[in-house]
Amino acid sequence: MSVFWNSRAAGISPYVPGEQPRDRKLIKLNTNENPYPPSPKVISAIEEILSGGESLRLYPDPLCLKFREAVADAYGVKPSQVFPGNGSDEVLAFAFGAFFESSSNSLIGSADYQAILFPDITYSFYPVYAQLWGIPFRTILLREDFSINLGDYAIPAGGVIIPNPNAPTGRALPASDFLQLARNLERDNKVLIVDEAYTAFGAESMVPHIADHPNLLTVHTMSKSASLAGLRVGFAIGSEKLIEGLFRVRDSFNSYTMDALALAGGAAAVLNRPYYDRINQKVIAARERTAAALETMGFEVIPSKANFLFITKPGISGAALFQSLRDKGILVRHFNKHRTADYLRVSIGTDDDMDAFLAACKAIICRS
Ligand SMILES: *Cc1c(COP(=O)(O)O)cnc(C)c1O
Repeated sequence: MSVFWNSRAAGISPYVPGEQPRDRKLIKLNTNENPYPPSPKVISAIEEILSGGESLRLYPDPLCLKFREAVADAYGVKPSQVFPGNGSDEVLAFAFGAFFESSSNSLIGSADYQAILFPDITYSFYPVYAQLWGIPFRTILLREDFSINLGDYAIPAGGVIIPNPNAPTGRALPASDFLQLARNLERDNKVLIVDEAYTAFGAESMVPHIADHPNLLTVHTMSKSASLAGLRVGFAIGSEKLIEGLFRVRDSFNSYTMDALALAGGAAAVLNRPYYDRINQKVIAARERTAAALETMGFEVIPSKANFLFITKPGISGAALFQSLRDKGILVRHFNKHRTADYLRVSIGTDDDMDAFLAACKAIICRS
């Protein structure tokens, strides 16, 4: 606490990111980074930007045209349907600011003023953005098996945001399941955001439905599927009016959120799908193999279409399992909250990483 903080800074509960350990010997399965390196084409694109330093002397293109053209090309949309950002967290923050109504707004009490909806177990940044912007929100319970019942969202709302696959459960829904919800919200002039951070690991993208749903925004990150968590590249795809709304908020904040290196590296990455399909297939294969091995050991594993598994072992608390794994040099993520306290989220690493993880699990179980 400080007397210098205003009520916003004092009242917020910031997001707590997963640990980036200094200890290099830990096997890091806690923040869903891709275990494989980015495409060599990304590295050469960045090196080219660096040579001579001219691109660093100048401001980057505020419209990010080359990057947006690359995304548009890769996803079969127009550059005007692409919003670029410094990681998808930033894109999400702007989307909350652009499309969801704040309670400080004069609309309070009017029929247009409703809480936004998202699952009770989901990406823990959503309530933080809502709090930051003063947006009222309501969480909708997942079913007992951690699946999303989209029928529960068919109620008056200020907007809806759902990740597909959901995080940290990994469960995915078919893209077509969201269309009725999109139509319902469109009738009330409200936006549906689908966070596609993990879609590349086996789920279906909503992007082909953008053309039919002007209120549908998909949000994408290059941190996980493109091995670029350190570069900070994200983007949204949606109707031109949604993209324009995002630019209005961005340009009231910082017109250069993507730097010259991120623009060049990001563009090279989206245009190199074969490389990424290859490494992400390896991640998917390791996920399936790990899930099967864990089930053999008596773990319960939520079916995952993401690059992580959400697991629990009856008889061992999540906290105890987290600590035992850490003692064996393996770092995973534990969300110590109601309903998830006995679960761990395990990012999928290389085959060697997963072998070490499974061996550690076996040793812990035999001992307990
Ligand atoms: C990792 C993650 C993000 C943020 O990704 P960045 O692009 O690294 O900011 C957004 N949404 C979900 C669901 C994520 O898991």
